[in-house]
Amino acid sequence: MTSLLIENAVGIFTGHAGAAMRTSGSIRIRDGVIAAIGDMPPEEGERRLDVSGCVIYPGLISTHHHLFQSVMKGVRAGINLPLAGWLREVPHCYWAKIDEEALAVAARIGLTEMLLSGTTTIADHHYLFSDTFRFDPAQVIFDVARELGIRLVFCRGGATRARHFDTAGFVPVPTESLDHMLKSVESCAQRFHDSSPGSLCQVVLAPTTPTWSLDPGELKEVIAASRRMKLRLHSHLSESTDYVDFCLSVHGKRPVHWLADHDWLGPDIWYAHLVHLDADEVRILAETGTGMAHCPQSNCRLGSGVAPADAMARLGGAVSLGVDGAASNEAADMISEMHSCWHTHRAVKGADAVTAEDVVHWATAGGARVLGLPQTGTLAPGQQADIAIFDLDQPRHFGMHDPLISPVTCGGAASVRALLVGGRIVVDRGTIPGFDIAKLRSDAAHVIARMTA
Ligand code: ZN
Repeated sequence: MTSLLIENAVGIFTGHAGAAMRTSGSIRIRDGVIAAIGDMPPEEGERRLDVSGCVIYPGLISTHHHLFQSVMKGVRAGINLPLAGWLREVPHCYWAKIDEEALAVAARIGLTEMLLSGTTTIADHHYLFSDTFRFDPAQVIFDVARELGIRLVFCRGGATRARHFDTAGFVPVPTESLDHMLKSVESCAQRFHDSSPGSLCQVVLAPTTPTWSLDPGELKEVIAASRRMKLRLHSHLSESTDYVDFCLSVHGKRPVHWLADHDWLGPDIWYAHLVHLDADEVRILAETGTGMAHCPQSNCRLGSGVAPADAMARLGGAVSLGVDGAASNEAADMISEMHSCWHTHRAVKGADAVTAEDVVHWATAGGARVLGLPQTGTLAPGQQADIAIFDLDQPRHFGMHDPLISPVTCGGAASVRALLVGGRIVVDRGTIPGFDIAKLRSDAAHVIARMTA
């Protein structure tokens, strides 16, 4: 049995909502699980980690990402475009250049950014599966996640039909038959999905959108397949007004009402964005426990709007945070995401719209709820020891009256004293032990040179 005592922190955020968010004391970890929190003396032979001057959060959880886009940051043709134009000019223009090397480098960039911002779990929505590939994207991304020690929820995306703009001079994004998609997801789950408590690898069924990536007649088959395979379902929804206009004109209903007809609601489903919802859609999502991956930075960057995450949370809905792909959010790390989230809602709805504690709750317990990983996202005895310890020994944190909220309110690059995943230290004093950042820098430059040649 191994035992570690984390002691002398300035304070602890537990991840729980309301007054239960704050606590203090030491944290004892035994065999990767939290054994106790509070004031306690060290035990004989116990390892001790002194975190004086630091605050402790649950490991952060991002519920929506596209790791392959980590080598598509700041593409000039798409830098000032809204969603549809950006999709055409960036991911749809460059996807065919993502070979095995580019994908591995992109995953390393994205996952190191996440680790260095205190993130212990990410959901990656990968929708590029071409029969021209001589590699398995799931294998590449799981290998990088294992190498770095982060929890990965791999959302196996894809489409049975392509959007209309795919054909205008570009290589269309890959499509496949529904039968092929479902068989591939099943085989991916057989190879990688681990549903045990403390699992580091999960698989989710994740068609890119229900609106444009599938035939409406396929929706019921997809949700039935996900429930038969005991996998969660993830997709994009109502990121822009295009979704609402399309559903109203083609199906005569708003997107959430249309999906209700197809059984695409429930606590085992979450959608990225959900920016354009009316009050009834917010109510339905909250009542059914359908999750939101709120991506405020990507929504700001693409000018999509501000999702009603606060309204959904007030109704008891499942709200989480996601960084989305770096092609539409160059600041794809969870500290930047939390800082922007805290600001964005207040800018348009007032200073009491969203508190720092709300943001932390969404980025921790909210993420665990949405991903169905109840052993993560909160700090309490019996929980997985997924723990982010932020060092406040930087001028940006000096002068602070409430140090616990400092990582959210002061923003900037996090200084991670230590990050633990299941009790294992994956970041130590701001570095990833054994990881060669200089090699990643040159690999990234090499990939960009090839993509832009
Ligand atoms: Zn997305």
